[in-house]
Amino acid sequence: MTVLMRPKPLDGFKVREFKMLIDGKWTAGAEGKILERSSPGHGTVVSRYEAATSVDAERAIASARKAFDDGHWPRMTGVERSRILLRAADIIDERADELAFLDCIESGKPISQAKGELGGAADIWRYAAALARDLHGETYNTLGDGTLGVVLREAIGVVSIITPWNFPFLIVSQKLPFALAAGCTAVVKPSELTSGSTLVLGEILEAAGVPAGVVNIIVGTGPEAGAPLTSHPDIDMVSFTGSTGIGRLTMANAAQTLKKVSLELGGKNPQIVFPDANLDDFIDAAVFGAYFNAGECCNAGSRLIVHRDIVDEVTSRVAALSAKVKVGDPLDPSTQVGAIITPQHLAKIVTYVKSASDNGADVAIGGSAADLGLGQFMEPTILSSVAPDMAVAREEVFGPVLSVLAFETTDDAIRIANSIDYGLSAGVWSRDFDTCLTVGRRVRAGTVWMNTFMDGASELPFGGYRQSGIGRELGRHAVEDYTETKTLNMHIGPRTGHWMPKEART
Ligand code: NAD
Repeated sequence: MTVLMRPKPLDGFKVREFKMLIDGKWTAGAEGKILERSSPGHGTVVSRYEAATSVDAERAIASARKAFDDGHWPRMTGVERSRILLRAADIIDERADELAFLDCIESGKPISQAKGELGGAADIWRYAAALARDLHGETYNTLGDGTLGVVLREAIGVVSIITPWNFPFLIVSQKLPFALAAGCTAVVKPSELTSGSTLVLGEILEAAGVPAGVVNIIVGTGPEAGAPLTSHPDIDMVSFTGSTGIGRLTMANAAQTLKKVSLELGGKNPQIVFPDANLDDFIDAAVFGAYFNAGECCNAGSRLIVHRDIVDEVTSRVAALSAKVKVGDPLDPSTQVGAIITPQHLAKIVTYVKSASDNGADVAIGGSAADLGLGQFMEPTILSSVAPDMAVAREEVFGPVLSVLAFETTDDAIRIANSIDYGLSAGVWSRDFDTCLTVGRRVRAGTVWMNTFMDGASELPFGGYRQSGIGRELGRHAVEDYTETKTLNMHIGPRTGHWMPKEART
């Protein structure tokens, strides 16, 4: 049985009230709509936001457009923008506890994990600040005496940034600092479930010296506040992280005006383990991969693809370790798995598990919602004897549910891994160099971990193959993603190669 940490009631909690940031002013929504957010771990209202409709979205877009077309930000030097991004990183560090608390209380993630994410986010702001000074184009001095070619990188313009609820501050930090480093202006719409830390980021950017109108932040539902950001003609690029379904819709909306899109979408990520792997290390990584962020993670290692010879041993050892995972109060520093984002989402997770067991999978551990008195929680769950064609093996469950599948040969393992629509990330475990590289090269995923899982660094690009997305975030090209390329083709000296004959020209 899992270790359960009962949440303590949030007695006397002061609900935090938030406004939107448009054109440098903290403002109410035009139609007076208010959204409330309850802590998923406590069931108590913790945040209240002014909610945007299309009217507010229009104002935010107009503000970002003006700041781009007429403002100072795109015309600043890289050094100036870099200094401001570095100041922002310092203030993120100073306010990290407050931001982590908001992410914890609104998303249900454990407080210790939320603090770790804030450290990672500040590092990304610093990395983007360094890249702001290095953004450059190319020159061609090889085109002959009469020609010099210069390839410029210019900020793409106004970017809309739409983010999900599972890593509220981290994901906006994978986008916004790079857009700002390039000289873009932005309208940001966080998930309506977890907007608090992104709104505090607005205060941080003001304090760091980002001019009014450069970053506008609106809160609201997807159809009301998000959709205009994907279709408005004054938006030049949409950077979206969320579900594959809404990603598809975003791309279709953006296609009407041929906007550039960057999409970070869902995943159903395999960890492939061979009999020669270091099983002690693997078992820990399997438990971490499945239950980190309660499995509400695009990178969750939700499919174990295990060699037939060790499948029983692996299943029982992962189950034994899963029983020691601490589930419950997100505010308890020792909690490892927090609350599930909404009661509706919890019901969906339970339905996936039931359907798998109705179709022949065995529940090795867990399988049910955990009643902790307050909030909504799910027991860490392992399903064994899962067939590759079951929904639980192909679709994103987005909960602490691990499916175990068996394979016979390396080809078999790669085929199972590649047999679904997603291709975000994967893990391979073996002490054999050839095995790791063979699997690493043939699995169709944007990141392949070898003898580790879910590690990351600001320097390493991240994104998906196939229906896991389009484009890459992070890494040294992350700023370029927010630019257009412009060719300056320059002629030196008298015109050569005239089109009209000499007689006609004299
Ligand atoms: P979601 O797609 O429901 O919502 C994401 C964002 O889109 C939210 O801000 C939402 O309000 C907005 N939105 C909804 N409908 C919209 C519309 N019609 N037009 C414009 N915006 C709209 O996703 P979610 O439930 O918040 O997040 C979970 C999903 O995000 C999972 O599928 C997960 O895999 C994915 N995700 C991917 C990555 C990655 O980097 N690949 C990272 C984190 C999460």
